[in-house]
Amino acid sequence: MTRKTSKGARNTKAVKSETNAPFLKNEELTVDIIGLTHDGEGVGRANGFTLFVQGALPGESARVRVMKLKKQYGYAKLLELTKKSEDRLNPPCDIFKECGGCQLQHFDYEAQLAWKRQHVVDNLKRIGKLQVEGEGSDSGQVEAGTAGKANIAGITVLPTVGMSDPWRYRNKAAVPVGASQDSKELIAGFFARGSHRIIDMDDCLIQHDDNDEVIRAVKRIGRELRIPPYNEETGQGVLRHVMARTGVVTGEMMIVLITNGKRLPRQPEWIEHIRKALPNVKSIIQNVNERDTNVIFGDETRVLWGSEVIYDELDGIRFAISARSFYQVNPEQTVALYRTAVEYAGLTGVEKVIDAYCGIGTISLFLARQAGHVYGVEIVPEAIEDAKRNAKLNGIENASFEAGPAEVVIPRWRKEGIEADVIVVDPPRKGCDPALLETILEIRPERVVYVSCNPSTLARDLRTLEDGGYRTEKVTPVDMFPWTVHVESVALLTRNS
Ligand code: SAH
Repeated sequence: MTRKTSKGARNTKAVKSETNAPFLKNEELTVDIIGLTHDGEGVGRANGFTLFVQGALPGESARVRVMKLKKQYGYAKLLELTKKSEDRLNPPCDIFKECGGCQLQHFDYEAQLAWKRQHVVDNLKRIGKLQVEGEGSDSGQVEAGTAGKANIAGITVLPTVGMSDPWRYRNKAAVPVGASQDSKELIAGFFARGSHRIIDMDDCLIQHDDNDEVIRAVKRIGRELRIPPYNEETGQGVLRHVMARTGVVTGEMMIVLITNGKRLPRQPEWIEHIRKALPNVKSIIQNVNERDTNVIFGDETRVLWGSEVIYDELDGIRFAISARSFYQVNPEQTVALYRTAVEYAGLTGVEKVIDAYCGIGTISLFLARQAGHVYGVEIVPEAIEDAKRNAKLNGIENASFEAGPAEVVIPRWRKEGIEADVIVVDPPRKGCDPALLETILEIRPERVVYVSCNPSTLARDLRTLEDGGYRTEKVTPVDMFPWTVHVESVALLTRNS
């Protein structure tokens, strides 16, 4: 973490002379907002210069104060809206402004869905240099000869699949624990936007009610048992984070207490209190994290009471989920996402399919119902254990799994004669490893289905696949995280004949 020093003050003069801004720091002016950045800040233009304005929406005009100037752009504070967008909402959450969790509660839901689609389109055009159906060529940025040749018709980007009731959708909460600044009492909630100050929270509008109840109960128990909250500055204290996860279909719940050190003081009382207050909890887990890091989990995980996993169901398939495994947080939209992925895979019952970055085998098992055989690969060994268990649990015999980096395991499979008619990838935010993309181009499956949580790396990787002989047919954005800036999408690529 960087600490504030006098450096900022010393540099003001230099910064002023380095910027191309036609105004000074602290100046007040009116800007027109013409867009939203990928983190949900308004993009303002004033005298031809770009100013980012937190809280302002496209189509609005605002009085702002210039806070920080860089060479080509700056940041300004919203003082007053002189023209309001019709899409502006009153954020229903009281702590929306302080909390970093949601960024778009002031933005009408339908408008948000349209913005998410446009965000995908813009990335495909700007980063992927791809042609999109019904869109211009982005002021000549699409070079003739690349996108034009590979994708004459342009990619169809469908409307974002939204939720009919976009609240209380999260099945997982992970909250930092700390001490209240005045009473020093144990609190848990969220880090204030852009800082590490913990703000206590009892109710989160995008969180499943049961998770909120668990967090409230764990806080109360922690206070009763006088458990010292972790202090990030000194590295002292015990409880760092609490995670609550609920299987929305089964009602089963898991609690993970993340502690600084192996010892959890008053362990038997913890278990007794939790079981009494929260009868749906089937699994109480401790994870030890002694490192000075923002990463929530440490390497050591043990069961304090109950089962190592909880169960949930998606579209009739049952899943065992352990503490460390990735499991999509919005189950309703996950079904929409996976169904789209399966539809794009175009299976007839005989195909060999590779599911790269398979987690606990969720997409793999959806695919297995319609494929010849599915091979799943994932880097977290516990997740692969879950995936194997999940295949058995559902009597699915045409899916097999291996732990390891996709970019290492799939090339080896190829040498062993395992190839695929369809490859599905669902990588983390940084996108696919280049070595994996290369292997896909060597295997040359008929179709590639790309599930992505980051439009910019999606666009980059689609460009690589297009240059290697694939055509992106269509992309469907699915809103997995309403009121936040996150955009998930599924893309279908077919091999050029
Ligand atoms: N398809 C799954 C998981 C998607 S999240 C689902 O929908 O639930 C991305 C997954 O990629 C995570 O489980 C992460 O552990 C895994 N991962 C990250 N890097 C990887 C790599 N190099 N090779 C294989 N898996 C990786």
